[in-house]
Amino acid sequence: LKISSSSYHDNILDEEYDEVRESSNKENAVLLMLVRNWELSYALKSMRSLEDRFNRNYNYDWVFLNDVPFDAAFIEATTLMASGETKYALIPSSDWDRPDWIEDDIFEQSLNDMEKQNIIYGNSKSYRNMCRFNSGFFFRQKILDQYDYYFRVEPDVEYFCDFPYDPFQVMRQQNKKYGFVISLVEYESTIPTLWKTVREYIELNNDQTIDTSSDLYQFITDWNDIRTPRSRVEPTDRYNMCHFWSNFEIGDLNFFRSKEYIRFFDYLDSSGGFYYERWGDAPVHSIAAVLLLRENEIIHFDEIGYMHAPYFTIPQSEYFQLKQKCICDQTEEARIDFSGISCLTRWWKHGSGKKFMRETYQS
Ligand code: GDP
Ligand code: MN
Repeated sequence: LKISSSSYHDNILDEEYDEVRESSNKENAVLLMLVRNWELSYALKSMRSLEDRFNRNYNYDWVFLNDVPFDAAFIEATTLMASGETKYALIPSSDWDRPDWIEDDIFEQSLNDMEKQNIIYGNSKSYRNMCRFNSGFFFRQKILDQYDYYFRVEPDVEYFCDFPYDPFQVMRQQNKKYGFVISLVEYESTIPTLWKTVREYIELNNDQTIDTSSDLYQFITDWNDIRTPRSRVEPTDRYNMCHFWSNFEIGDLNFFRSKEYIRFFDYLDSSGGFYYERWGDAPVHSIAAVLLLRENEIIHFDEIGYMHAPYFTIPQSEYFQLKQKCICDQTEEARIDFSGISCLTRWWKHGSGKKFMRETYQS
């Protein structure tokens, strides 16, 4: 059988998967879920899936975060579902609630305007708290201090294939700081002034080593898809809305805890955009990763099958789909990777995936 995949980036053949597994020691890592009590059954569904496909062989800890206390039923059921230890923490109000310097009238106006425009979660106050928390505070929760890596898990998601490796081990061994499975374009109406604010930040912090001529920077500013003829749209300095879908995220907590990331977050936060607009944590994390990391510190986990409604991804190679026992009964339209709103082909053009494209198609 011929293997055709950008598999874990540097040619791990399938026999070698087993060796990787055998040599694996547990990493200093945690499975992390922000969740509400009423989402218990969805939380259990995600846990069951990730346990079956990955964690039952590793028994990583689970940490659950909530802005209100978890109830006894939630704690009991999730503890029984986990193969590792489970821990529960209450998020302090200062990390969750709307700061009092946010002006009520501007905020209420934004909620109304966004509702009128039918923007998803446009009139939700709690959604804004959640996005700001996930942008600037999750990694500062005390309960995470002891860990180096986190794997974000959301309620009601599914992992379609056996994991062929421990992604935490891949992160550490290959010195990766941020890992994703799906990349797509953001709704522009949720972030009208985000890019302007980012550009201000770059200009104000010109002592830093932010390289706006890097290939990685082009991943979020090039408006041409890899499939469109070269230079159809002139190079710009406008955000093309590409971001890593953060409901799946494997990251190095030390990156988020760094003074560079916190300075970036603080600058964005001080503009009020998390409330006056509806900035998501996904574009914020993604832009930070592009500005503050090197290209080879970001990894696309091509071998992981994943569904968060309304989209899913599975390994590109049919061989791996079989080898990893994928079960994917979704409609083909929900498969995002080659759809018009996916940024994967742009990742292949500008991100660390391009090596694979060059090797496959240009040699
Ligand atoms: P979507 O994926 O953008 O549609 O948003 P979700 O409703 O899935 O929310 C994203 C994540 O934040 C999920 O893990 C939710 O469980 C969690 N979440 C959203 N709002 C709240 C909230 O008010 N409290 C808590 N504790 N978790 C929340
Ligand atoms: Mn979700």
